Amino acid sequence: MHIRDIIKPHEPTFSFEFFPPKSSEAADTLFETIKQLSSRHPSFVSVTYGAGGSTRELTHDLVVRIKETTSTPPIPHLTCVDHTAEEITTTLERYASVGIGNILALRGDPPSDNGNYNRSNDAFPYAADLVRHIRQFNESGKHPDPRGFGIGVAAFPEGHPGTPNRLLEMDHLKAKVDEGADFICTQLFFDNHDFFDFRDRCRLAGISLPIIAGIMPITSAKGIKRMAELAAGAHFPAKLLRALKRAGDNQEAVQRVGIHHAAEQCAGLLNADVDGIHLYTLNQSRATQEVYASLGMG
Ligand code: FAD
Repeated sequence: MHIRDIIKPHEPTFSFEFFPPKSSEAADTLFETIKQLSSRHPSFVSVTYGAGGSTRELTHDLVVRIKETTSTPPIPHLTCVDHTAEEITTTLERYASVGIGNILALRGDPPSDNGNYNRSNDAFPYAADLVRHIRQFNESGKHPDPRGFGIGVAAFPEGHPGTPNRLLEMDHLKAKVDEGADFICTQLFFDNHDFFDFRDRCRLAGISLPIIAGIMPITSAKGIKRMAELAAGAHFPAKLLRALKRAGDNQEAVQRVGIHHAAEQCAGLLNADVDGIHLYTLNQSRATQEVYASLGMG
C-alpha cells in the first residue's frame, strides 16, 4: 500500500520500528512481538537496515515475512552505505516483486567497526541522491503500483550533527523533498517544543509533506545509553532527568518514567494535529502497548 493511501489529513498514523535480530531464535521472538503489536492495527511498521552484508539480508527477510504473514504494510529502510547503484536497483526490484509499497531512504550510519569508513565507496553520497535513484526506478515502471514506491526520508528536529547550520540543513531536507520524497520521519526527541519548532520551520521552508514524529520510550538505564548513541546530542528535559534520577537503579521505576513521558509526548502531539507517531520499539512490545493504553486506545 502506497504511503499516500496510508497517511490521511487529520487521521494520525501510528507505526512501529523494529531492527532485524541476528539469530533465528531472536527472529522468532521478535515475530511474536510483531504479531502482538499487529493486533493494534498499526498504519505500518518499518525495519532498519544495517551497514554489514549479512544483516542486510535479514532486513529483507523480516520485511517479506511481515508482508506475507500480517496485514500491516512493512517499510524497509535502505541506506547509501557501501552500495553501488546496481545493488540498490536490485534491492528495489526484489522489493517491488513482492509488492512492498514504500522505502525509507537514508544516507545510513557507517559500519560501527570502521570509524574511518570512506564514503567515496558509496554510489550515492547523500540520501537525496538515493531518493532520486528511487524516483527514477519508479519512473521506469518496474513497480506494480504505477506510482512506484512511496519514499520516506529522515529529519532531525534538534539538528543533524553533520550540519551545525540549521538553515543549511533545512536546504538539504528540502533537496530530498524536491527529489521526490512523500513523507518525513523524524529522529527521536524528548521535548515536543523541538518538534513543533521544526515543523514550523519546515512549513516556512515550503515543505508541506506529512511529518511523522519519532518517539522512543525509555525502557531501561541501558536503553538511555543506546539512545544517546542513536541520537547524539538529544535534549533530555530536566523534568525527565529528575524523574529518572528518582528512579535510580530500579528498573521497573525507570520503565514507568519512560512510558509516562512518552505517553505525555504522544498526547501532546496528537492534540497538536501531528501527522503520525512512529514508535521506536527496540523490538519490545510492553512500552508500546502501555503508551497505546494511556492514550485511550485499548
Ligand atoms: P542526509 O539527508 O544525506 O543528511 C546527512 C547529513 O549530510 C546531514 O547533516 C545533512 O545536512 C548533510 N547533507 C545532506 N546533503 C548535503 C549536501 N548536498 N552537501 C553537504 N551536506 C549535505 N541509519 C542506518 O544506518 N540504518 C537505518 O535503518 C536508519 N534508520 C533511520 C531512521 C530514522 C527515522 C532516522 C531519523 C535515522 C535513521 N538512521 C539509520 C540514521 C541515519 O542514516 C543517519 O543519522 C544519517 O547520518 C543521516 O541520514 P539522512 O538520511 O538524514 O542523511
